[in-house]
Amino acid sequence: MSKVTLRHVYKVYEGGVRAVNDFNLEIADKEFIVFVGPSGCGKSTTLRMIAGLETITSGQLFIDDVKVNDVESKDRDIAMVFQNYALYPHMTVYQNMAFGLKLKKTDPKEIDERVKNAAKILEIEDLLSRKPKALSGGQRQRVALGRAIVREPKVFLLDEPLSNLDAKLRVQMRTEITKLHKRLATTFIYVTHDQTEAMTMGDRIVVMKQGFIQQVDTPVNLYEHPANLFVATFLGSPQMNILPCHLEEKDGQLSAYLNNVKEERVNFPPLKAKQLSDRCYINQDVLLGIRPEHIKLGTKGLKGQIEVIEQLGDETIIHAKIAGKDDDIVIKGAATGKYKLKQEVFLDFEMEQVHLFDPKTTGSIMGIPKENRFPCQILPTKAVFGKNEFVFSASYAKRIFERKNEGEKAYLCFAPQKTSLIPLNDGIKLKAKVDFVDKKTDSSTVFLKIEGIEQYLVMALEAETSLKEGQETEVYVKEEDISLKNEEGDFLTSREIILPNQTKAAFKTEGEKTFVTFGKNKLVFPKMDVKDGEHLILIHEDKVTPVFSKKSLKALGRKQQVSFDKKRLIKASAYDEEQLGKKNAIFVQLSGFDSYATFLVDADFSVYKAPKFSLYLEDGAFSIIK
Ligand code: ADP
Repeated sequence: MSKVTLRHVYKVYEGGVRAVNDFNLEIADKEFIVFVGPSGCGKSTTLRMIAGLETITSGQLFIDDVKVNDVESKDRDIAMVFQNYALYPHMTVYQNMAFGLKLKKTDPKEIDERVKNAAKILEIEDLLSRKPKALSGGQRQRVALGRAIVREPKVFLLDEPLSNLDAKLRVQMRTEITKLHKRLATTFIYVTHDQTEAMTMGDRIVVMKQGFIQQVDTPVNLYEHPANLFVATFLGSPQMNILPCHLEEKDGQLSAYLNNVKEERVNFPPLKAKQLSDRCYINQDVLLGIRPEHIKLGTKGLKGQIEVIEQLGDETIIHAKIAGKDDDIVIKGAATGKYKLKQEVFLDFEMEQVHLFDPKTTGSIMGIPKENRFPCQILPTKAVFGKNEFVFSASYAKRIFERKNEGEKAYLCFAPQKTSLIPLNDGIKLKAKVDFVDKKTDSSTVFLKIEGIEQYLVMALEAETSLKEGQETEVYVKEEDISLKNEEGDFLTSREIILPNQTKAAFKTEGEKTFVTFGKNKLVFPKMDVKDGEHLILIHEDKVTPVFSKKSLKALGRKQQVSFDKKRLIKASAYDEEQLGKKNAIFVQLSGFDSYATFLVDADFSVYKAPKFSLYLEDGAFSIIK
């Protein structure tokens, strides 16, 4: 067993660089997982946090369900292989591999066994007496791997281990590492910026950009169902063609107009058209994505002219221009010599394979949506959507922010990947009817209808499904996978239980002033109509304003703010935060409170930049409960 779990992991470097944001991932035992993304996206930082070479700013890291945030690197039972293999030049291959075990005072007989065994696995048995300078790059990298193998770690961490090798050797070592993973049957976490390495090696791939996970899935699923424009264009070579277009629907036919010439359009087949996530995109400008291998040159389709022909031996890449578009459209097909430069051709799009993206959010708007999002009404004990309901457990009810939203328009949301056909203990059970099924290589997407709801319920299933059009079924979603949001998409639920901000406070009125004391806080308010003595008070989540010291203002890049009445300030020390959209939920420690208190502040303030601050109690900031 060697499972690795990251929960809400953040890394903020000194100086405020947010290298990793809210990283959530469960890596299964024996899985080969690849972190991929452009330079600077936070891959190495994440790996180094798992290795224990970098502290975790906030969040939790578990290896085999044991929290290891504060466990030293050497005690985490992991081995790391770097890009520069850093072998000791004066030692032989054998000594290099044995060195770590010797330091740990392992029995010499066992060291010998482990080194010889690793050398056998890596096929470097005849190199054991050589020094590193007498080895090729590939052989050195194998020794570096050997040094990790002899430690028999629970988890292997590999940070761009092949980037110092030439192209041919890289391809060879890629296969060798994949084989090694199978032989060792251990969890591998592999960092690379190379999409081919990611696609060919990973069981699953984590695509990252600017410190945020973009999507996690198997290589095939990422390729076939990219969640956004970044993933769509990052994976695949040549990359996906992205064509600005205008969506229109006439007589039930959905079409995309690709340029200003009205005749030049492509038509969506009916089942594809049904996968448009929201009809509001009709009559709007959107981005159409199509991979080069999904365009055929034939006798029908868009009229174009060949600009460039690249013969790659086994295949041909053609760049063609269509009227009204500046950028070439790239087409990939079987090798053929039949096309000539400037030849007039027809570009036939395989419309089943087309992707559509929202030009503003860049999210995919056709196929598997990011989440199922049903209009609902939040009641004290449940959320009602159409003729369905989600009854809150006691702990779920405590994750909903102060119920100002009752009766307001809200949405019940869950990811298509989090739906199940197998009954669950908590959460929701929905009676649903299959409308249609979209089958891909390793997955099926099922579009279902539930009572009283216009939108589809979309299920993303990992394997082929026996569900058929018109079939009735029950769909289950776990409580922990359901969130409530407002119309703007901000969360109304927190991942943490929200305890009411309650504490006992002493009240004393003298003349025109009322003194309120709790913990070390001594506050003064205009005279209140309250008996002297101790009362239970509740501080409202959204009735406080954070106030910062000069140093914190600098860290936040803000100017001096208006001055606040010092007699109404309480000192706060941050415990954590949760970005909810336009608001940030901050969890803070206050003097006089047994547990943390929760407040909603503007999202542009992060407690990671200024963990200590004061909170100004606005008018009506607290109520006396008794
Ligand atoms: P990647 O491995 O994807 O190339 P890194 O994890 O190395 O990315 O870096 C992520 C971000 O964190 C980058 O903006 C980088 O400049 C920054 N960063 C990395 N290491 C440090 C450090 N020690 N101090 C400050 N910033 C750092």
